[in-house]
Amino acid sequence: MAINATEQTIEQIIQKVDNDAQLSVEELQSLLEITEHKQLQALYACAYRVKACHVGKVVYLRGLIEASNICQKDCYYCGIRVSNKRVKPFNMSQQQIVEHAVLAYEHGYRSVVIQAGERQNPTFVKHIEGALAQIKQQTQNQLRVTLSLGEQSEQTYQRWFNAGAHRYLLRIETTNPELYQQLHPADHSLQTRIDCLKTLKKVGYQVGTGVMIGLPNQTAKDLVADLLFMQQHGIDMVGMGPYIPHHDTPLGKHTASYDEQQKQQALTYGLKMIAVARILLRDVNIAAATSLHALAPNGRELGVQAGANVIMPNLTDLAYRASYQLYQDKPFINEQTALMNETLNRSISALGEKLEIADWGDSKHYQARVKSKPFHA
Ligand code: SAH
Repeated sequence: MAINATEQTIEQIIQKVDNDAQLSVEELQSLLEITEHKQLQALYACAYRVKACHVGKVVYLRGLIEASNICQKDCYYCGIRVSNKRVKPFNMSQQQIVEHAVLAYEHGYRSVVIQAGERQNPTFVKHIEGALAQIKQQTQNQLRVTLSLGEQSEQTYQRWFNAGAHRYLLRIETTNPELYQQLHPADHSLQTRIDCLKTLKKVGYQVGTGVMIGLPNQTAKDLVADLLFMQQHGIDMVGMGPYIPHHDTPLGKHTASYDEQQKQQALTYGLKMIAVARILLRDVNIAAATSLHALAPNGRELGVQAGANVIMPNLTDLAYRASYQLYQDKPFINEQTALMNETLNRSISALGEKLEIADWGDSKHYQARVKSKPFHA
């Protein structure tokens, strides 16, 4: 049977990846625009080969601690934006944050992520700094801590780094300036976010960023530009996931919850982005985001098969889970995740992958970059 032109082109692009050749912007875009089932499977399989080769058949676990939903930002898509008065505020005490981290450590975790809404006031800075110092002390400095606490000054990033944080996640959300403007109030700045990523790198963090996928008015071309941005900025870790509307936000209030078909489409787009990110960025850590799981019960496993190598089980105390609704239908809000999730272990092992809890799982990209420039020049 004759192969049609697009199919041949996709096959050729995949062949190029297998031959270790660089892809052009147009070729990356063609991969993101695949809709045909067989081609999708070929894309995921190709990205998986790149993953196995550059970061191994291993999935690292990070325990996610949602420390507070209080946020000074007002992003139009986010359920915990400051203007959403329907959110019940919570703010873990320093001791509660430390307890979460130590509990994770006692259950074998060697890596946690502390995430919260953004606050730039001195009290918050000190609150986190103190928690970090105690975590370091109570885990004999054997627990890698990632922070995801938004835009901060260089001084704050430096203080938290000195107190024991090693990694920082700050999603750029989108690198298209017009789209960024549509999604945020006028006092939110794309340039500030870019500057923060540079500062984080300068301070010495392993730096992660990411975007939301499938935003209104976002094109495949935008997403390719986002991935090239990550490449140009030497990003070590990628955390990105499908956009899911939240009914209490300006962007989501007129959108009905996704039906099954929309969920499937959003999931596929998320998986394609993981695959193309893996193909382009090769040795970075890529998370199979929780929002993939919100779209399908096996979303995270599919993420791993498309090239992801990190999963972040939510360890936040159930009392707070429901109040950290970034988007609708966020999973696990009524379910206490077993600290070492046996089901996850089984499903990941079934893919021929090792689920690794006891390893820091530092980004290979970071290791290579520090080796080549030991003083972060
Ligand atoms: N305040 C921190 C982290 C908390 S928000 C920061 O600014 O980095 C974490 C992430 O949730 C955001 O970066 C955003 O990409 C994602 N998010 C927010 N609303 C979302 C939505 N409706 N759908 C999907 N992801 C969303």
